[in-house]
Amino acid sequence: MLEKIGRLIDSDVLVVGGGAGGLWAALSAKRHFPEGRITLVDAHMVGRTGHTAFSNAWMVMVSPEDDLDACVRDIVEGNEWIAEQELIREVLSLSYGQVLDLERMGLRFAREGGQFVRRPTRGLRVTKVLKPVGGGLEFCWVLRKALESEGIRIVERIFVTDLLQDDHGWIAGAAGIDGRSGEFCVLRAKATVLATNSVTFRAGFVRDLTGTGPVLAYRAGAAITNAEFGYLRPATPKFYFEGITFAIQDGAKFVNAAGEPFMEKYEPDWADQADVQLISKAMVMEKRAGKAPLYLDMSLVPEEKREDYLHSTVAWMDYFYKKLGERARIDMFGRTEYYPFYQMTKMAIKTDSGCRASLPGLFAAGLAQASCATHFAGFHIGACNGTGWIAGRSAAALAREVQAPAVSEAGAASLKDKIRRGFGEGHDRAEDELLFELQKLIFRYDLSILKTEERLSEAVGALAGIEEKLAATKAGHTHGFVRLRETEAMVEAAKLIFIASRARQESRLSHIREDFPKRDDRNWLRWVLLRRRGGEAEVSTEPIATPLVPPPREASP
Ligand SMILES: Cc1cc2nc3c(=O)[nH]c(=O)nc-3n(C[C@H](O)[C@H](O)[C@H](O)COP(=O)(O)OP(=O)(O)OC[C@H]3O[C@@H](n4cnc5c(N)ncnc54)[C@H](O)[C@@H]3O)c2cc1C
Repeated sequence: MLEKIGRLIDSDVLVVGGGAGGLWAALSAKRHFPEGRITLVDAHMVGRTGHTAFSNAWMVMVSPEDDLDACVRDIVEGNEWIAEQELIREVLSLSYGQVLDLERMGLRFAREGGQFVRRPTRGLRVTKVLKPVGGGLEFCWVLRKALESEGIRIVERIFVTDLLQDDHGWIAGAAGIDGRSGEFCVLRAKATVLATNSVTFRAGFVRDLTGTGPVLAYRAGAAITNAEFGYLRPATPKFYFEGITFAIQDGAKFVNAAGEPFMEKYEPDWADQADVQLISKAMVMEKRAGKAPLYLDMSLVPEEKREDYLHSTVAWMDYFYKKLGERARIDMFGRTEYYPFYQMTKMAIKTDSGCRASLPGLFAAGLAQASCATHFAGFHIGACNGTGWIAGRSAAALAREVQAPAVSEAGAASLKDKIRRGFGEGHDRAEDELLFELQKLIFRYDLSILKTEERLSEAVGALAGIEEKLAATKAGHTHGFVRLRETEAMVEAAKLIFIASRARQESRLSHIREDFPKRDDRNWLRWVLLRRRGGEAEVSTEPIATPLVPPPREASP
């Protein structure tokens, strides 16, 4: 009796993670399987958590009068061909209908003369973005309300620790722990969608979310990919400024220590309007050339526009202005030091164009799904909306067909026991101390941004020490346990990042190898795949299909 082992929640489709990817996946599963039991589970409060809730929710939308093929080309070329082309085409073709659906649910978008108000976004030539009134918070809340009204079960405060598997390796749901009571939960399902985002290292924005899903899938034996790519962005140690895009559109420029603008040199087409990772890459090169420190020169923003930055354009600047006082105002419109920053990995679950992972019963949506290696401003949410819909549809189709998989009592009991063994005499901040050790490694500028085989191999060795200490660390309470599990996932993710980075012997997008400085289309239009075999990461590569946007000429033999 599974009920005796813990709280049992039975579903046809289980969705883990309540951000844009998960909310759409749950909605889609319900609409494709109306009589099905659909459950959305999250470690926090759905509608108020996830990167989605914190975002402005700018999203890509391709309307019927746009050139869909040109938009697909835009995303694929911007990704230097590291993209699942068929999937991206479907994501873009769904986008207009999804925005109309959101309007029907009550979300508002600015319109002029009946047309949606859209704007270009950095790094994309033709694809345009729009944002809902109220940003990510309103977006998530409206979707949450829609889920409730359509009969989807929402279960909050459950931190998923493991995927459940039957004897044939079929994913049969998940196991987790109630983040407040510590109660063990068995979430049995015919189809499971992971929409937990990818792994961050608790720095930059949204520090309490680390997105353990791709690591859980990897541990269960699923293929993951894109671990060698990261989300790089310029960051400032002075204050938190989420508004570089607007500032650059209004004239701000990145300059080096001598005050020389440098972006034109590296990105002649885009200059400072380039995607953030290209700016970060140029910053790395300037640093390497001994031209640091580097600055964002906001003195070029005209006087009449400055109030916008403090108050209206980016509403939360008001908060920082109040918090930091007059000094922030002076800093903001002078030269502020910036550095290239590794925000998070693009490591995600490899799927087919139906968002089906390589293990039966498992699907992925949102940033936990590997549709491409860089998302630009607006295609993060855009990709989440579309992959959510597609993953929910595929999961529903499977759940309609199959019987509930068998979850053995012994298997569930051993997962429960594993959790029990994680508790003990812990000192409160043990996991944070280990996290700090990890951060000192992963944020090393000459490791996560500018890589060499030698440094990557040394880093894998250094992680072994942290792993050993983690294995001996116990949690004194439930909250500490969740943090400990997240730290374990972050350490495992770091190892996979270093291994995949060692495998890709070229430089492309955010993956910059000092020992292989050129992009090599002939040999590397390939996915680097990682699978767990016998406790170790097995690396393989697979050609990237290019059915819609042909590869560059150099790629042909
Ligand atoms: C400040 C900020 C501004 C941004 N602005 C934009 C923008 O304007 N446009 C854009 O396109 N992108 C933007 N982004 C990026 C974008 O918000 C994210 O990439 C996107 O929201 C990711 O959605 P998701 O559904 O994959 O994950 P999330 O929204 O992060 O949701 C993942 C959910 O999974 C849950 N979860 C994770 N692990 C577990 C577990 N083990 N058990 C249970 N639950 C778990 C988390 O609690 C979370 O709720 C921004 C990001 C930030 C932080």
